[in-house]
Amino acid sequence: MKLEIRLYGDPILRTKGKKIEKADEHIRQLAEDMIETMHAANGVGLAAQQIGEALLLTVIDVSQAEDRPSSLKLDGREVKLEEAMPMILMNPEAELGKELVEGTEGCLSFPEISAEIDRPDSVKVRAETLEGIPIQIEATGLLARALQHEIDHLNGVLFIDRMSSATRAGLSGRLKRLQKEAEADRARARRAPAGQRVL
Ligand code: ZN
Repeated sequence: MKLEIRLYGDPILRTKGKKIEKADEHIRQLAEDMIETMHAANGVGLAAQQIGEALLLTVIDVSQAEDRPSSLKLDGREVKLEEAMPMILMNPEAELGKELVEGTEGCLSFPEISAEIDRPDSVKVRAETLEGIPIQIEATGLLARALQHEIDHLNGVLFIDRMSSATRAGLSGRLKRLQKEAEADRARARRAPAGQRVL
């Protein structure tokens, strides 16, 4: 099932995710729906906060982004992207590389906004699979960027926080507008619950 993506201005995006002790039926369904939602929106990653759940859960799929290469090692072994994607990660923690690299970044919670952002070019991530198995990921390229972006979401951090102040200042008008629209959407949703006819 496709889920509604929460937009900038929604307080859930600033809420830290809760650790998942064990993936129950709700978490499994959520992960499956998040993958469907991400693919439908042509995204390369989606964090639980973006669909309204403050949990340490994210999905990633960079296998279709042929113009922006990635490398991936899983538990120390080189793995082809197609074999590992889409990835579902619970309780991920990142250890960042030291070299910064600039790259274009967008976010499904900020429609039509993208910017150049400096981030470490590599990342090591410890996480758990849905089965609760600990895994270690070493990534470079777009995957390294996507992992950092999504793990930021899980901690309530947004990509605008990673932009240079000049870049953010340049976007301030659009960000304010987005925030206002999201607030109006939520007000409408409060008045008319989904599926209910309003007279
Ligand atoms: Zn995002």
